[in-house]
This record gives sequence, structure tokens and C-alpha cells, in this order.
Amino acid sequence: MQTSDPSTSLLPICPDVPTPVSVAFGDGIGPSIMAATLRILHAAGARLDIERVDLGERIYRQGVTSGIDRFAWDSLRRTGVLLKAPVITPQGGGYRSLNETLRKTLGLYANVRPCRAYAPYVPTLHPKLDLVIIRENEEDLYAGIEHRQTREVVQCLKLVTRAGCERVVRYAFEYARQHGRRKVTALSKDNIMKMTDGLFHRVFDEIGTQYPELECEHQIIDIGMARVAVHPERYDVIVTLNLYGDILSDVAAEVAGSVGLAGSANIGERVAMFEAIHGSAPDLAGRDLANPSGLLQAAVLMLHHIGQGEVGCRIQNAWLRTLEDGIHTTDIRGEQTRTVVGTNAFTEAVVARLGQTPQQWETAVSGAVNVPVKALPVQDDSRLAILKLLVGTDIFFEWSEDGRNPDRLAEHLRDIEVPPLSLHMISNRGVIVWPHGLPETHKSDHWRCRFLGPRPIEHENILELLRRINLTGLDFIKTEHLYTFDGEPGYSLGQGQ
Ligand code: NAD
Repeated sequence: MQTSDPSTSLLPICPDVPTPVSVAFGDGIGPSIMAATLRILHAAGARLDIERVDLGERIYRQGVTSGIDRFAWDSLRRTGVLLKAPVITPQGGGYRSLNETLRKTLGLYANVRPCRAYAPYVPTLHPKLDLVIIRENEEDLYAGIEHRQTREVVQCLKLVTRAGCERVVRYAFEYARQHGRRKVTALSKDNIMKMTDGLFHRVFDEIGTQYPELECEHQIIDIGMARVAVHPERYDVIVTLNLYGDILSDVAAEVAGSVGLAGSANIGERVAMFEAIHGSAPDLAGRDLANPSGLLQAAVLMLHHIGQGEVGCRIQNAWLRTLEDGIHTTDIRGEQTRTVVGTNAFTEAVVARLGQTPQQWETAVSGAVNVPVKALPVQDDSRLAILKLLVGTDIFFEWSEDGRNPDRLAEHLRDIEVPPLSLHMISNRGVIVWPHGLPETHKSDHWRCRFLGPRPIEHENILELLRRINLTGLDFIKTEHLYTFDGEPGYSLGQGQ
């Protein structure tokens, strides 16, 4: 399917000098699938100067809550390339997800997850599946900003930036163009999240017009994900927000055959990280059962990225031939399986086939695989010309008095209104309960009370209002200022309006 030569996307090639690469062996099945992958890379003639870095469980145990120590950071910044086996994220508070920390700290904004079926050799209901998911990697609910606000309510902030949307969407279109793909589909939930997902959709429409040769479509994530599961052959390149992309890529990989088959590239401007899409599979650790293919596929992407695409193709061809020969790990066994093998025997089977090509599938040739394209420069986000005006504030309260009757809360607040601000509405979990609420609506202890002025206001007005609220003893737990941007409200209106 992919035809164009992406050599322009590769790092400078200097064939005789080994490329420095940081390598993390990870946890669970990580060490065994990494050993397998390095064995194949070495046998295939990859020219790598490997710096081993420790990430994950051992580092967490030393009290480093991010799972990454200073030596690892230094190595990553020096080499700019990380091949990483899966790591365990310890359960419970206090620990951050190492993967999230790596992606965000290093600016790895595009997560590229090629996914295809290997029919008939790997059982799948969708033999024509061949798609690439490009997942936004730094924003969305994964900002990890969560608060317990009241006795009953916790919140997680969903942060989406225009620059973040532009970078990943442009990346997806460039990827499609450079790989001769025909269509880019955006998936979002902008019928509900009109501002965050709405921004993503708008940016997609804007950038799509700059790629007239590519078909563009947008689908709501729920129907899009359902169709990927049932008609994956309809899709080509998919670009989506962080959480949806995370879920969708596991769905697509399972539908294709196994999560154990898919590799991914995390692309940033200065650093790129390559990993399998699956986790550390503690149920398989130490049992010689894990399929090393996902990490091997990631390593092939890495070889293309560092300018050793010919070695990547050599490995890809040997690997495809191994699958065709029916030598399978247990997760992909099916009618075409001749021998079920463990991690080590599978690895040796691939090594034994280096130099061979597949007989049924297309031979991988440099430039004809899912090579990640180079990161695009960040666009300057100077939008200072936009007129931003403060017009009001949402003040949030914890309140459980008076039978949680919103009319009573409104009475308290109207008594202390300070012009030009006046109370416009009260909502509970996003549903407007005053004025004109319904008794059927369940009310939590978390209330959003919206004050607006008839004209732009000053911060001073909000401070005065808060001072008065404070005197009443009402428990205000946060404020959210309301702005217009070039006359457009920069806030949702709430259900019921
Ligand atoms: P998982 O992906 O480790 O396992 C899910 C299922 O897939 C299991 O049944 C497992 O046996 C199977 N599986 C996974 N990889 C396989 C392989 N190579 N070959 C054959 N079968 C394979 O997901 P999980 O169990 O939810 O998570 C385990 C740990 O991994 C958690 O601590 C989680 O935080 C971590 N995790 C890490 C990463 C990463 O490092 N990128 C990604 C996801 C999960």
C-alpha cells in the first residue's frame, strides 16, 4: 500500500559509524523480548552503539517516583533514540506512569501505531486490515491533573491545545502523503466536548484543505471505534486524541491478530522512542511464552528512523517468512501453525531466515514499510491578535444544606451579588438546576454558579464577589474565569441552555 520513498524523513546516514541508541530492558516479559530483539538486530547487521538504561520497577523501588533516574535522562538526551521494553506501572498513589512522563517530558507528540493483518498465517476476522493509528501523545486527560474537590466529587482536567492539535494532525497528513495512503480519518467526541474535541475537529478540517489529494473524514469516536472493530478495511490513517488512540490501538491490534504483534514509534522533535504496544505481561514473565514480535516491529521502525532501513527490511522479510512457515508463538497459533514455539525458538527461527524473503506476502523493501516520518517543527503559536475579554466567573461550591435545594443556594447568592456581576445559572454535574431545574435531577455536593456582567468586567469585581461570599461562610472550592475571544464565548453553556 505504501509506495513513496520516505528517505527524506530519515536521520543523516553514515553507514560505518554505529548509531548511539539507549535501550531499556523493562519489566515482566521485557528483558526476554528485548534480548530476543537485540539478538535479531545483531545477527541482521544493525550498526548500533547501545547504551543500556534502567527504567521502571528497579528505579521505582529506589524511591524515584517517576521510574526514571538522572542517568537515563542524560542518555536519552544524548542519543535521541530509545528502544524500550514494556515496564510495570506500580498500582496505587505516589507513582507516575513512566511512559507518560517520557512522552510528555521529551515532547514525543505523535504516537504512530501501524497495524495490519497477517492472514492467512495469523488468524484474524479481517484479512484486509492495514491501518495506521496516529495518537496525540501529550495532552487530553493524560495531563494527569486530578483533584478531589468536595467530599463527593473528584475531577480530571482534559487539556487540549491548538498547537498540540496542529502538530499531530499535520503529522498524520504528512505521514499519509509520504506513504501514499489515500485517506485520513479523525475520530473525536465533539458532539459532547464541543470545545476540546471541537478544537481538534476544527484543526483537522483546516489542515485537511492543504492536502487535496487525500480524502478527509471525521467520525464520532464511538461509531468510529465500533467500525474499526467490524470493518477495519475501511480505514487507512486514523488520527485521534490521546485516550481514544490508546484504546483504539489495542482494539485494532487485537482485531488484527494479537497485541503481541504491534510496535509503535513515539516521535518528537529531538527524541524518538520505539516500543511494543503491549505491556509487561506479568502472567507470561519468565515462562519463555511471550511473542517478541511487537518489540521487533518497533525496532524495525527504529532502524528506518536512524537510516538503517536496509537492515530493517532484512529483519522484516525474515520475520514475515517465519510467520509464513507456520512457526508461531502461542498467542498467534491457528490453522496455519506448524510449530508452536517459545520466545527463544521463535527468535532463532527469525535469525535462521535472515536473507530470505516471504513467499506469499510482499517483500519489504526500503521505503515501502510504515516508516515514521520525521517530526515537524512546532508552529509558532502567537495568536496575540485575538481580543480576549473577561466577562464573568464560574464559582464552584461544596454545599449540602437545605435539602440541596438549588433555589435556596440561589437566594443566598443573589443576596450578595455585586454589580456588575449577577447570578445567571447554577448547574450540578453539568445539568442546569437553577433557574427552572427539575426535581428529578440528582444533585451532588458540587455546584457551579455562574456570574456574568452585562459588559466586560475587572478581576477586582471577582475579588469583591469572593470577599462577600467568604463572609457568608459558603465553601467556595474553585473559580473558573469566563472570557470571550473575539466575541465568542470561551466556555461551555451547560446542558439545559
Ligand atoms: P499487557 O499488555 O501486559 O497484557 C495484556 C494481555 O496480553 C495479557 O493476557 C498478556 O499475556 C498478553 N500479552 C501481552 N504481551 C504479549 C506478548 N508479547 N505475547 C503474548 N501475549 C502477550 O497489559 P496489562 O496486563 O494490562 O498490563 C501489565 C503491566 O504492563 C501493567 O503494569 C501496565 O501498567 C504495564 N503496561 C506497560 C506498557 C508500556 O510499557 N508501554 C503498556 C501497557 C501496559
